[in-house]
Amino acid sequence: MASEAELKAAGDKYIPKDYAPTLYKLRHSLAHVLAQAVVEKFPQAKPTIGPPIEYGLYYDFDLDVNPTDGELEWIANRMKQIIKGKHPFKVREISADEGRELFKDNPYKIELIDGLTKGKDEYGDAASGSGGAATITVYQQDTFVDLCRGPHVETTGDLDPKAFKITQVTGSYWRGKSDNKMLKRFHATAWASADDLKAHLARVEEAAKRDHRKVGRELELFSNEQVFGAGFPMLLPKGATVRRLLEQFITDYERKAGYLHVYTPDAAKVELYKISGHWDHYKDSMFPQMDMGESDNEDEDLVLRPMCCPHHIQVYKSKPRSYRDLPIRIAELGKMYRYERSGVVGGLSRVRCMTLNDAHLFVRPDQVKQEIAGVLALMKKAYADLGITEYRFRLSKNDDPATPLPPGKESKYANNPAMWESSIKMLRDVLTESGLPFYEAWNEAAFYGPKIDVQVKDTMGREETLSTIQADQHLPEQFKLEFKDSDDTPKRPVMIHRGVISTMERMMSYLIELYAGAFPVWLAPVQVAIVPIADRHFEFAQQLGASLTEKDYRVDVDLGTGRMQAKIRDAQLMKVPYVLVIGDKEMAANAVAVRLRTGEDLGAKPVAEFEAMLEQVVKSRTLKLVP
Ligand SMILES: [Zn+2]
Ligand SMILES: [Zn+2]
Repeated sequence: MASEAELKAAGDKYIPKDYAPTLYKLRHSLAHVLAQAVVEKFPQAKPTIGPPIEYGLYYDFDLDVNPTDGELEWIANRMKQIIKGKHPFKVREISADEGRELFKDNPYKIELIDGLTKGKDEYGDAASGSGGAATITVYQQDTFVDLCRGPHVETTGDLDPKAFKITQVTGSYWRGKSDNKMLKRFHATAWASADDLKAHLARVEEAAKRDHRKVGRELELFSNEQVFGAGFPMLLPKGATVRRLLEQFITDYERKAGYLHVYTPDAAKVELYKISGHWDHYKDSMFPQMDMGESDNEDEDLVLRPMCCPHHIQVYKSKPRSYRDLPIRIAELGKMYRYERSGVVGGLSRVRCMTLNDAHLFVRPDQVKQEIAGVLALMKKAYADLGITEYRFRLSKNDDPATPLPPGKESKYANNPAMWESSIKMLRDVLTESGLPFYEAWNEAAFYGPKIDVQVKDTMGREETLSTIQADQHLPEQFKLEFKDSDDTPKRPVMIHRGVISTMERMMSYLIELYAGAFPVWLAPVQVAIVPIADRHFEFAQQLGASLTEKDYRVDVDLGTGRMQAKIRDAQLMKVPYVLVIGDKEMAANAVAVRLRTGEDLGAKPVAEFEAMLEQVVKSRTLKLVP
């Protein structure tokens, strides 16, 4: 069954009907036009399903030939003709038997019809809305008839022949299952106007240039080795340098803000996650439990942690706490494991092992607002230093009361309405009082409480969550956390979960794309490349390199046999901010000829002057190369 998750896993984002209804309709309609043209070109092709997706549509065919570029061009031209024919989309309701007769040569459509009679939609999921068998409809434009629920535009003339493009043909299994037959998936991007198409193609091109997987490979930051398995990238020396700098940067800020850093184990007994509720609410995202064998004692079985919260709770519980001790801010660069489907992992952005810039603040109820405000301030400071300027806040809540869950389906959130209400109010008040612009969204919370999510846009303009702050009254209850209040009675603390710069993997992938690999000088894995022109300049170059390294700069001295121009170009391709060229003149004057990675030539500068500039640029964490 191809559920929405599986469609996503296949690399396509399925869009629901209520999303951009105009685009939905025109993409749905264009799928029929595509199918007609494909079947005219390849009469043996058997159409299966063809949904609208984010940016366009696809259509899967049982087809054994690989279409050539010429054939794809023929199909695109034929589609334009069909569009210009202004053929109406005519709908007709049919019985299952009529359908089976109509599509008797297409086993896929027969399977779909059989599913429809059992209340399954075209993806094999239970059809929403209808309790039993769905009505079966066929739509016809021109000579082509397809099984479909609609909706469509009125006629093919409502489509713009200049606003679509067939982008590629890939393989995909029927129903997304690898034991089924491999089909041919025709992808097209489709828009309301030619201008929209052009803008989209430009975005795609720019995003491809910045794609962190591509840039990460070219700049030798990380790699994904098959032998490690999907979702376990390794950081190469340059990527490891960026990560170490990010870790230092954020832990320094945290130390100054009163956080205490700890190390806790990556694995624990299953029991810990039963108490926390992760085992009930989060098990599907965890790696399977490790059977510890011989003892055959289930209580000893271990599991890799998906989060650090229960661990930091143990830190809190390691001694009695009084109201005067609070807030206690426990932080860790916490390594954690999530069992993501292998189809959705890739690069650094979707991984199965990640290190979160994690912290848990244990606070008195009267301190919650002030502490969250403190986290927001820390976050704004860190984002400013990282050059992240465009973001907005989302208050992420639990189930939407306006759309009750279907009978039998359980909420994924902890069942405690009073807690949800008070926690949501708390977060909303903080956001309102801090004057930050925010919006609210249902069904985006953590299972134990609402969150403030920091939303950024990726290179395609899609919004995603980079950082979160959560107010939690659930886990303190589960673990019976206490502090002794001023009147000597035991009280429950509130727990604030927060990640300021996300996971190291996520943040690195985001920054690689944001900067297109050209890191600001303070984060650049190599800050200075030194290029001696001839052998007689090697010693001077090495001494300069050693002296800068001693001062904590990251330097690469190129003693290779290549020509100077090639060495300069190599360093610039690796996005090294400064290239220092050393020749006779420079050596004599204790100077360096400074080239920037942008290609700009600053000319000769005394070494001391260059060092002063470098120091200023690094200390200020500016994005500029020259202050
Ligand atoms: Zn349709
Ligand atoms: Zn947590």
